[in-house]
Amino acid sequence: MRKNIVAGNWKMNNGLSETQMLISDLKKQIKTSEAEVMIAPSFTNLWHAFEALRQDDIEVIAQNMHFAKNGAYTGEVSAEMLQSVGIQTVILGHSERRAYFNEDDAILAKKVDAALANEIRVIFCFGEELADRKAGNEEAIVEAQIKNALFHLDASAFKNIVLAYEPVWAIGTGETASPEQAQDMHKFIRKTLENQYGNNVADNMTILYGGSVKPANAKEIFSKPDVDGGLIGGASLNAEDFYAIVNSF
Ligand code: PGA
Repeated sequence: MRKNIVAGNWKMNNGLSETQMLISDLKKQIKTSEAEVMIAPSFTNLWHAFEALRQDDIEVIAQNMHFAKNGAYTGEVSAEMLQSVGIQTVILGHSERRAYFNEDDAILAKKVDAALANEIRVIFCFGEELADRKAGNEEAIVEAQIKNALFHLDASAFKNIVLAYEPVWAIGTGETASPEQAQDMHKFIRKTLENQYGNNVADNMTILYGGSVKPANAKEIFSKPDVDGGLIGGASLNAEDFYAIVNSF
C-alpha cells in the first residue's frame, strides 16, 4: 500500500551520546502524523536507538548491509545481523555508496535480493548526476538504475520496496529539485513501473524524494501527487527541523 514516509538518513554522524540526545529531542516532537517516520543511525548505534524507540512511532532502520549471509567479509554487516537487533528496513543504493564504495547495479541487485529474502524492507535509492541532467539523460539513467537492480523481481516483491529518487546534484548541496522537477521524475518512475508490472504495483509504490529537503520546501514538494515523502539527510540531524518536515503533509 502506498503511504507517506519521512526517513532521516543520519549518514556517518552522531556517536552514542549525540544519538541519545537526538533521540530524546525527537521523542519530544512525536505526535500523530500523516507519515511513517524512520531514522537511520550508524550501525554502532542501531541497537541503542532500537531499544530507546521501542515504544515510539519512529522506526529505526539501517543505512546499508552486505548481501552475503555471513563469513569472511571484514567490516560488513549482514541482513541477519540487522534483524537480530530489531531492524526491518534498510536503505540500499544511496549515491554515496555508489560513488565512494563502488556499489553498482549488479551488487545492488544482490543486496536487494538478500534483504527481501530476509523479509527486510528496502528503501532503494537512485538518481542522476548533474551532467546527466544537463545532457537531458536523467530519465534514461533513472530507468536503467531501476531496471538493472529491481526488474528481475516478481511483482509481489514490490510490496516490500520503497523507492527514493535522489538527484545527486541536490544531495547535501542546498540545491533542491524544484517541486515540478521532482513530480515529473516521480511520474516517470511510476510509469516505468506500470509498463513493467502494471497498475497495481505502480499505484501502490511509495516514491520518496531526497536532496536538500528542509522545513521551508517540504510542503510544496510533498504536495505533488506522485511524491509520497522524503529521505532527509542534513535536516534530519535536528529534531525540530526533522519534525517540521514530517508534519509537512
Ligand atoms: P540531504 O541528503 O538532505 O542532506 O541533501 C539527502 C540524502 O542523502 O538522503
